[in-house]
Amino acid sequence: MSDRDRLRGLPSVDRLATAVARAELQARREELLDGGDAVDDTTVDLVARARARLRPRLRRVLNATGVVVHTNLGRAPLAAEAQAAVAAVADGYCNLELDLASGERGSRHAHVEELLRELTGAQAAIAVNNCAAAVLLACAALAGGRDIVVSRGQLIEIGGGFRIPEILEVAGTRLVEVGTTNRTRRADYEEALVAGGERIGAILRAHPSNFRTVGFVAEVEIEELCSLGAAVIDDVGSGVLTDDLELLAGEPPVRRSVRAGAALTAFSGDKLLGGPQAGVLLGTRAAVEACRRHPLARAVRIDKLSLAALEATLALHRDPAAARRALPVLAMLEADDATLSRRAHELAAATGGAVVASTARVGGGALPLLELAGPAVAIDPGAAGATALAADLRAGDPAVVGRIHDGRLLLDPRTLTDDEAREVARMVRAVSP
Ligand SMILES: *Cc1c(COP(=O)(O)O)cnc(C)c1O
Repeated sequence: MSDRDRLRGLPSVDRLATAVARAELQARREELLDGGDAVDDTTVDLVARARARLRPRLRRVLNATGVVVHTNLGRAPLAAEAQAAVAAVADGYCNLELDLASGERGSRHAHVEELLRELTGAQAAIAVNNCAAAVLLACAALAGGRDIVVSRGQLIEIGGGFRIPEILEVAGTRLVEVGTTNRTRRADYEEALVAGGERIGAILRAHPSNFRTVGFVAEVEIEELCSLGAAVIDDVGSGVLTDDLELLAGEPPVRRSVRAGAALTAFSGDKLLGGPQAGVLLGTRAAVEACRRHPLARAVRIDKLSLAALEATLALHRDPAAARRALPVLAMLEADDATLSRRAHELAAATGGAVVASTARVGGGALPLLELAGPAVAIDPGAAGATALAADLRAGDPAVVGRIHDGRLLLDPRTLTDDEAREVARMVRAVSP
């Protein structure tokens, strides 16, 4: 496109100004008619508000918090390969539900099923909208209209109102609680299975991802649960495929659940898998087929953009060493001290901050106790205070989000690339007095 064509593509002043002014005046009119405090506010700057309206609401954020899987900041950044896959299917049409070999209608699930089977050893797999949807679908498909057995220590809340007892109710199952908050034994499950008989649809194991119990505690291991005779649904949450990563040893590996014989194992696409928002269900052919046929499957199905990113992300997991380099989440978790220290010192030099010892976290409700030691850059906020500095940085474009500690703003280099760290420095200089 020539410059002239590009310039001609701009909207006319009239059209742009009229549309924005109309929307802004309408919003103000509604505020005034609604009454309340907004009526007396004479400082309302309609021009500034109109300018803000022209900026996209969903914006890029530079994550200087040191929380790697930050749910509020969109969880896992995608690998370059996954970004390219998304761009390719976004650009035009794709064979989402067309079998190119036969020309017949195909299944969207086919695109990742082979890869998932190869990576985990499962007989079958299906990808849905997110892990919450995967758990809901699994419970409805295997135990709808029947009972589901859960340890009292696993009646958990994941966050955002996702509570296991309520999910089981929505799935049309009846919850049978066994054991206690801190201890549940094999015999507790066995008694429930004998008492429930044919009414039992499944046992659900939910990984307590965002908290830990310590002391006088006991839970039944997945291998033992799978030996009890009932179908087991294992919600492992974060989705660790790289079971050679020592750092992640506290999270349940997906392959272990498959090997143990779980009917269905559920995990997230955008936590430690390092891909897009998605939920994966894998397990036996019969159980996955029951999920596929259930009416909820259509309501929670994955879209083509996420599916493209998921396929590319899974493909990277074929080579664990390459996955650890290419997937930003794994690379950030494994960042070496020398890289972090160099990045911190460059950021400090460019902002006038000081390098201090700090800790980063995994986030996303995984490994809640794990602290990743590393450097951070402390910015002295001056008279206005750290809260004001943090607000100024959040208002920028890109927004910068750090962490306030002891009256100073901390910027963690672990969750920034080198380029992003330079951008952060520029944004800090722009708002510093
Ligand atoms: C995070 C999590 C979920 C929900 O996963 P989403 O992909 O966020 O929907 C469900 N179960 C467990 C154990 C989790 O850790």
